[in-house]
Amino acid sequence: MPVFRRVRGMRDFLPEEAQIMKYVEGKARRVAQLYGYGEIITPVLESYELLAAKAGEEVRSRMYAFKDLGGRRVALRPEFTASVARLVATTLRNEPKPLRMFSVGSLYRYDEPQQGRFREFWQSNYELMGSSKPEADAEIIMLTNNLMKAAGLKNCVFRVGHVGVLRRILSQEKVEDKVQNRIMQLMDKKEYDDALELVEATGVSEKCLMALQKLVKVKGNKFSEVLNEMEELVEDYESAVDAVRNLREVLELVSESGERIDMMVEAGFARGLEYYTGMIFEPYVPEMNIALGGGGRYDKLIELFGGEPTPAVGVAHGIDRIMLAMQKQKATLKTKEEKTVAVIPIKEKLKGEALKISRMLRDADILVEVEVMGRKVAKALEDADRRKIDYAIIVGEREMREGAVVVRNLGEREQKTVKIERIVGQIKGQN
Ligand code: AMP
Repeated sequence: MPVFRRVRGMRDFLPEEAQIMKYVEGKARRVAQLYGYGEIITPVLESYELLAAKAGEEVRSRMYAFKDLGGRRVALRPEFTASVARLVATTLRNEPKPLRMFSVGSLYRYDEPQQGRFREFWQSNYELMGSSKPEADAEIIMLTNNLMKAAGLKNCVFRVGHVGVLRRILSQEKVEDKVQNRIMQLMDKKEYDDALELVEATGVSEKCLMALQKLVKVKGNKFSEVLNEMEELVEDYESAVDAVRNLREVLELVSESGERIDMMVEAGFARGLEYYTGMIFEPYVPEMNIALGGGGRYDKLIELFGGEPTPAVGVAHGIDRIMLAMQKQKATLKTKEEKTVAVIPIKEKLKGEALKISRMLRDADILVEVEVMGRKVAKALEDADRRKIDYAIIVGEREMREGAVVVRNLGEREQKTVKIERIVGQIKGQN
């Protein structure tokens, strides 16, 4: 027999890790509810054309794409936004705005696996469609911070920028969109020298080159000062000045909300996905130099998918990476403590009674594992102890004749005989 292995980059979650993943997912869902985002569930498989339409070369070249048996060109989704855009351009076309939508699930990219980078990974994704106002951008930043806090993460820093600053300068200098995309991709990888070389090769003005050279170095955590500096550098490019002002409005609103967020504003900050048009951001924790999420404004996307022109802002959080950050910061899960019970019949013929007692406890919402290995009581108890089960209920003939069982507190190593009708109260600590 061959030894079957997991496909490279795919993930298995054993119970402990799965619990953390579902915990984060639960927090993400709660944040969605707190902000009025309705959950939508879209397919893992979409048409290749849809997913390739605006993903950006980086993501496009790494898709799991294939033909299905009907000869359709399909791919596993590398992001949620294309599916949401498809819905907004079709089924939800006439829905009143704003539309707030939340999704969570797995995505697939043929990335090189490394710390915090997998080929199968999970995101929580929020999209706010229909508003071009800075308060919508502020909401997306705030809800991201809410999720980081809910996951128990500390000292988050948000990298913040605005793709409009660089793009609008380049557009005014008549640099084609395609070339702009390549420049932005290099900037995303912090390969600023290569990016500037490419800008120079397009034949832009000396003034533009000078401004960009200075701009990519502008960053700081006092947003007002950084934005003043940016505004001065781009003063000859009117629409780029508007971009800086828009970012200022967004950050002022976040600040006025009272949500305390440490920010690092960077003029040369870009994101790999091509569709961003405005504010962009990424949350980080100091222990890891990879982003825990990414978001921003993309006002042209819905149109590109054939929908009505719809301004939009959104964010995707990397759940795998949030889990890594929680591990590094030793964040603890705040879950409800629930008592667990093992039910062990002493004899074969008491199996039915054991099942009956188990059922009764579960009807009372108690977590029960019933003995299914046919082991002797001592062995079964040893196993329950090893697995940190709180109580064992030993179903014996003598006690059953009196309508009772032995309830053993495995932590305290104490046991007593309890009438069946009183087990629930005993375990829930009511008597
Ligand atoms: P993007 O969809 O590229 O904007 O990514 C948003 C977030 O998803 C990133 O900040 C990461 O947290 C997460 N992410 C993206 N790609 C991967 C991957 N290959 N493995 C794990 N997480 C990822």
